[in-house]
Amino acid sequence: MNTRETLKINEKGHLEIGGADCVELAEIFGTPLYVFDEAYIRSMMRVYRETIAEEYGGNGLVLYASKAFSCEAVYAIAKQERIGVDVVSGGELYTAMCAGFPADKIYMHGNNKLPREIAYALDCGIGCIVVDAYTEADLIEEEAKKRGIVQNVLIRVNPGVEAHTHAYVQTATPDSKFGFSIQSGAAEEITAYVLKKPHLRLMGYHSHIGSQIFEEQSFVLAVQKNMRFAAEMRQKLGFEMQELNMGGGFGIWYTDEDARIPAEGYRGYLSALIRAVKEGCKTYSLRPPKILIEPGRSIVGEAGVTLYTVGAIKEIVGLKKYVAIDGGMFDNPRYCLYQSKYTAILANRAAERPTERVSLAGKCCESGDLIGVDLNLPEAHIGDIVAVLSTGAYNYSMASNYNRNFIPPAVLVNGGKAEYIVKPQTYADLVRNDVIPPRLK
Ligand SMILES: *Cc1c(COP(=O)(O)O)cnc(C)c1O
Repeated sequence: MNTRETLKINEKGHLEIGGADCVELAEIFGTPLYVFDEAYIRSMMRVYRETIAEEYGGNGLVLYASKAFSCEAVYAIAKQERIGVDVVSGGELYTAMCAGFPADKIYMHGNNKLPREIAYALDCGIGCIVVDAYTEADLIEEEAKKRGIVQNVLIRVNPGVEAHTHAYVQTATPDSKFGFSIQSGAAEEITAYVLKKPHLRLMGYHSHIGSQIFEEQSFVLAVQKNMRFAAEMRQKLGFEMQELNMGGGFGIWYTDEDARIPAEGYRGYLSALIRAVKEGCKTYSLRPPKILIEPGRSIVGEAGVTLYTVGAIKEIVGLKKYVAIDGGMFDNPRYCLYQSKYTAILANRAAERPTERVSLAGKCCESGDLIGVDLNLPEAHIGDIVAVLSTGAYNYSMASNYNRNFIPPAVLVNGGKAEYIVKPQTYADLVRNDVIPPRLK
């Protein structure tokens, strides 16, 4: 089996993550269980931060895209690593504030920020809001005026770069719900509109071209389009871009169909992006903008595994074999959403070679409740511990209580020791907000 830098197989033939034996973790904490390696998360945050420091004089900020995995502990780690975060809802912002995260290093995104979310963001003293609608610009203006402040904003533009990735995770195609098109003139119009608002300070532009992207060239192309647009806005509207936020989207390893990039390797993406910004500055004589990037998946994705216990096994002779686990679409809906591919191994027999292809089925009442199909595994038996790899991003954060299953707890491993960062739910949690109106009693 190929393992990543955070994973290894120990002398007992068990999978280890961050030095902790997954079989022991399953015994101590139960399954299903999300496990995160703290060292990996920190090393990724550092790679990005140091690249900006070394190659761009520190004139930038890494924002961890917290929608990938949002809980108080991860904001606490980001704070210690002296990076910023982006949030996409009042709930993520609230979680960051609970963790004591400095509000001035928080950026807020979303294509339909609610009035109460905007008001809350301003109450928190949020660093910057990324405007993605005229009505938002109006709302922020109104709320900022009420408070007697000037709010920093960026405008989300659509540079029209098609990255080669799944349609649902592409965000810069002409028909995207995100951003204002540079090409159509919409981005220019909203720029002029925002510049007229006395309580908005336009800092520059944001674009995010999609997710799980491996081609450097897509990012470079997006930078070039943004730089040319910035030059045009200076000429037409006298506006000088001070910040350029290039979003996230760097791809990670899920299966051997994906490139395997060591933590240090992610430096390359950022270097290419920085070079393109510098070239753009030269070409158009622009002042170097502060560079922001928003990696989410690449920071936490490979840092996480999910542990399950094998229950029912069903073979449909000549057709298929299902190995059912104690989790499913309620802890990882990504196969259901995008047919995402994962690698699974038996954590208690990690050194054994795969001998069969199985579908890993969840326990929900849905035929489509699968974690993956055609996964290579040794013959699984009831009680085996299955580890699904690269589940650190968009698993816990997308989890639900469907079928009134518990959202699994999460533990953070550091130096071989694990502790809860998200506690287990109980039956009482499931009915906490339920109400029976008296007339039904
Ligand atoms: C989702 C998202 C990100 C993070 O993308 P990753 O693929 O997880 O790196 C960054 N910025 C914005 C605006 C996003 O919507």
